[in-house]
Amino acid sequence: MAELSTDVRYIRGIGEKKAQAFHKLGVFSLYDLISFFPRRYEDRSQYKPIAQVLDGEQVCIRAIVADTPRLVRVRRGMELVKFRAVDESGSVDITYFNQNYVKDNINRGDSLVFFGRMEISGTRRSMANPVYEQEGAEKGVTGRIVPVYRLCAGLNQRTVTQSVRQGLDLCGDALPDILPEEIREDCKLVQARYAFENIHFPADFEALELSRRRLIFEELFVLACALGRMRGQRVSEGGIVLPGSDLEEFWQTLPFSPTNAQRRAAAQAVADMVSGRVMSRLIQGDVGSGKTLVAAALIWFTWKGGYSSAFMAPTEILAEQHYATLSGMLAPLGLRVGKLTGAMSAKEKRLARAALKSGEYDLVVGTHALFSGDVEYSRLGLVVTDEQHRFGVSQRSALIGKGERPHVLVMSATPIPRTLALIIYGDLDVSVIDELPPGRQKVDTFTVDESYRQRLNGFIRKQVGEGRQVFVVCPMVEENEDLPVKLKSAQEHAKELALSFPELSVACVHGKMKAKEKDSIMAAFAAGETDILVATTVIEVGVDVPNASLMIVENAERFGLSQLHQLRGRVGRGQHKSYCILVSDNDSEEVRARLRIMCRTNDGFRISEEDLRLRGPGDFFGSRQHGLPEMHVADLGADVNVLQKAQDQARHLLEQDPELSQPGHAPLRERVEALFRLNAAGFN
Ligand code: ADP
Ligand code: MG
Repeated sequence: MAELSTDVRYIRGIGEKKAQAFHKLGVFSLYDLISFFPRRYEDRSQYKPIAQVLDGEQVCIRAIVADTPRLVRVRRGMELVKFRAVDESGSVDITYFNQNYVKDNINRGDSLVFFGRMEISGTRRSMANPVYEQEGAEKGVTGRIVPVYRLCAGLNQRTVTQSVRQGLDLCGDALPDILPEEIREDCKLVQARYAFENIHFPADFEALELSRRRLIFEELFVLACALGRMRGQRVSEGGIVLPGSDLEEFWQTLPFSPTNAQRRAAAQAVADMVSGRVMSRLIQGDVGSGKTLVAAALIWFTWKGGYSSAFMAPTEILAEQHYATLSGMLAPLGLRVGKLTGAMSAKEKRLARAALKSGEYDLVVGTHALFSGDVEYSRLGLVVTDEQHRFGVSQRSALIGKGERPHVLVMSATPIPRTLALIIYGDLDVSVIDELPPGRQKVDTFTVDESYRQRLNGFIRKQVGEGRQVFVVCPMVEENEDLPVKLKSAQEHAKELALSFPELSVACVHGKMKAKEKDSIMAAFAAGETDILVATTVIEVGVDVPNASLMIVENAERFGLSQLHQLRGRVGRGQHKSYCILVSDNDSEEVRARLRIMCRTNDGFRISEEDLRLRGPGDFFGSRQHGLPEMHVADLGADVNVLQKAQDQARHLLEQDPELSQPGHAPLRERVEALFRLNAAGFN
């Protein structure tokens, strides 16, 4: 009897080569194999008499082979096997291309089931390359719903399907049900064995749906338990206790007052830092909500308490910007602010590292360079990371590994629907800044089509004439002739704009450039040396160019709502009235609905909720922007209800059994720990 951990090579038909192909798909053990869920299904469960099949329809037919299959050479390299099959209603010409062996396997008089696409021209009916087998063949591939798997070179559907079939037969009985009985019953979920069987080989569509629900629940539930336990362990570990100081003293130094949301977020973080527990807090706030200011307040608080802080930005240019902002705010108060980025010369870096080690900086701002192995800190009390998307859970633990457990504050500008945040950020405490600083104007957003091109150019000219700058975002880097629809490419579009506006300076930046080149083009734009910056989504990252007042997104239908919102956040950051123009010729109702939401609201959380409603959570989990291990729910198509239930049940269970140490929870505990081990090896 095979075990779940048995190597896939144990399967008949999987040798060294095929095993390697399976490895590429993430399948190593039998458990991986049976957890390799189909990406879709083909409904081969319907049978019809030949005469009733419609043109283009895919169904099964039961037919008798009416003549002897013959081999026809059409030309070199192209051979056909042809024959006619009949039932009581009619006949169909069947052809196999370059599958000569069929001739030997099919004989006149055979009674077979064929599944394929019927083509009708005039009175002639034909099928090309249908699947065939004896009716009622054991573990057959007709007369049922058939799985379709993701493949890679070296594997075909048949091999994967047969391997999964064997895998289920070999270890299906060894499959423990990790869901506690009460939860399974409470949530009306089917048993593990049933779910794994029917997700691959569904008895019918109802069985498929029941299985899908169970497996999505299971995956989210395990994740929620794992993150919940991480949080539980963290809470029980001691952290630096910072002596309290009154934040009011810091707020008073500002030219404006903090918003209530900023005060609340800062107060929540301060409560963590004086509690004796290590802080691990996420500040979620829309672009422009003033997260940096909250970070500055906490850096000040840490300094007051006698500790230093490190602030990590995702790119060089953002590190420079944060360095300028933070030292502008904090240096006058007496903090010594330093910088450490990859772009600095070897000598500068050496000096910065020495200064960090000897405690000469109260705050250091930098990039990943801050946490490379040879950097040592003195009295590091707080680590702030500003990220476009979430870092891997393990990357964050590398930060925490520096010094004596500094407090960690993570800032994220990607609004995530609350229902999802509960799961995705289950290991962190979350503060939400749900209020913008006063006087912030909304970015007026419009959707236009190609017919507005002239007027759009006029608008660009007008904005630049008033001294403003313009972002233009395209979905592609370069021209691609192979695409069925023509999409704007940054490079081509920049050339076109340069021709249309000979008097203006146009630059282009995209993800295929070297980081240095990218940074210098962005820096030139930020410095006002360029009028129009044509870019791909590389500019999504929060660069601050207060003088930019117009964001144009070409082929807006190609972008997700949250992405459009991030892009729009690049303008409206100064005192100038700002605009976002979404250019799209696509008039499908779904696209129109999405773009309308953009025009209606500037609230990132509402937009992300709408995005979730329109597209389902699969996209969030599939995008890998959350730093969590790869999930199958994206493939299975989770819905929000299951998400919520899994989260609630996990929380409830951990309250009763925080260590999952009750005997009945052993299989669950094992799965949760497997996820932790994965974490130790790096989630990303
Ligand atoms: P985020 O990082 O959340 O996108 P920032 O921290 O960069 O936002 O803040 C955006 C701008 O708003 C900055 O120029 C900042 O100085 C300003 N700002 C922040 N908080 C306030 C406030 N309470 N009142 C007025 N302006 C503020
Ligand atoms: Mg910011």
